[in-house]
Amino acid sequence: MKFVSTLSSEKPVSFTEAIFTGLAPDGGLYHPEYMPNLSNFFWNLPDGISFNQLAADFTSALLSPEIDILTARKIVQDAFPFGPMLKELSDSITILELFHGPSLAFKDFGASFLASAMNHLLEKQGDRSIILTATSGDTGSAVARAFYRRPNINVVILYPSGRVSSFQEKQLTTLGGNVFALEVDGKFDDCQRMVKTAFSNPRLKELHLTSANSINLGRLIPQSFYYIWAWTQMKTKGHFTFVVPSGNFGNLTAGLYAAAWGLPTGFFVAATNSNDVFPKFLLTGEYRPRLSVSTYSSAMDVGSPSNYERLKKLFSGSATVFRRHIRAWSIDDEATLETISRVYRDYGYICCPHTAVGWRASELFKDQSPNSRVLILSTAHPGKFPDTVKRATGIVPSFPKSFADIIHKKKVAYCISNQDKDLADWLIQEFT
Ligand SMILES: *Cc1c(COP(=O)(O)O)cnc(C)c1O
Repeated sequence: MKFVSTLSSEKPVSFTEAIFTGLAPDGGLYHPEYMPNLSNFFWNLPDGISFNQLAADFTSALLSPEIDILTARKIVQDAFPFGPMLKELSDSITILELFHGPSLAFKDFGASFLASAMNHLLEKQGDRSIILTATSGDTGSAVARAFYRRPNINVVILYPSGRVSSFQEKQLTTLGGNVFALEVDGKFDDCQRMVKTAFSNPRLKELHLTSANSINLGRLIPQSFYYIWAWTQMKTKGHFTFVVPSGNFGNLTAGLYAAAWGLPTGFFVAATNSNDVFPKFLLTGEYRPRLSVSTYSSAMDVGSPSNYERLKKLFSGSATVFRRHIRAWSIDDEATLETISRVYRDYGYICCPHTAVGWRASELFKDQSPNSRVLILSTAHPGKFPDTVKRATGIVPSFPKSFADIIHKKKVAYCISNQDKDLADWLIQEFT
């Protein structure tokens, strides 16, 4: 399989090139050049297949000969010491928990697979690389954890001094080893600009700088694994509908890729918070990106979802075609709180605000299609949002102990100014 930019179909590239380049040179996102039909592969999967076996078999089905089955197994084994979990809450409602990875959110699946794939591909080539990234708080820690202790890679994370929470800072600065935290005397915008200029600085060329940001194809592909795995576990009981809490629409795009490759899914429900650009688009046919507004489900506060470019390729930009595959609802903060509270009362289940947005959308969907079964993707551990959950339920959600202990570890960060040259000097001094 080859990949092309969403902006032009010239010069298809390999998976390896797509993941090490990140963004295509013309500024587009990498997208499959064509969609293979893997129906037979899906129908031949055993019902009780383990997540890792499925992930390895599917990776080689999709990417061989570039990634053969042995390499796929190694990548998957190193990527996933954790996996998805299904919780059946009633005959018609099942939760797909995606928050059992190191940062307790579903982005661990993509980040960890990308890290492991890069590590194994570098090893084959006898090469090394440096991941350079800026964070405003949460996303950096998933990347740091994913690349931690990968022998062929160093990780440099820039964060704005005094502008991330103390817990987030600890997550970035206490790993050590191959993870270097740079505390920048500036804002998040400075960090982003410094990273961007470093990538185009000829002095830094031989360091092999690489980005690992959320639009990387190597983070998107593995997000299709849990849709396929959940289908193998659920299919004997009949048809069901995936409900996906969405912000940048990477998660939903991965599900739609799986469907385009032949997974028999029917349509998907996209659930957004008050950032409702996508539901409005389905309603009106006009796509109008806006500035984002803040909500309780903060990881979905996106006013201009990047993956819309990929969806547009998939559905030829036509709202009519989109409507055949996706239904969407926007859920506001009040309904989010009310849902967390009601789900706890009726099912004894505590969900995070993002999952609650999905849950509420699944109810609105069932109002339209009363006898349907839903599978709601649960994207974060409720313990990451103690204030909101406490407000809704009166309970402070428990937290895995290993995670909470980070707060007692010692911070190690390198302080630098917000000047591009300082970052370049630091990188050269540290890595040459
Ligand atoms: C990133 C994120 C989302 C949104 O996923 P997209 O792929 O951006 O649509 C939802 N929930 C949580 C907890 C997230 O971190």
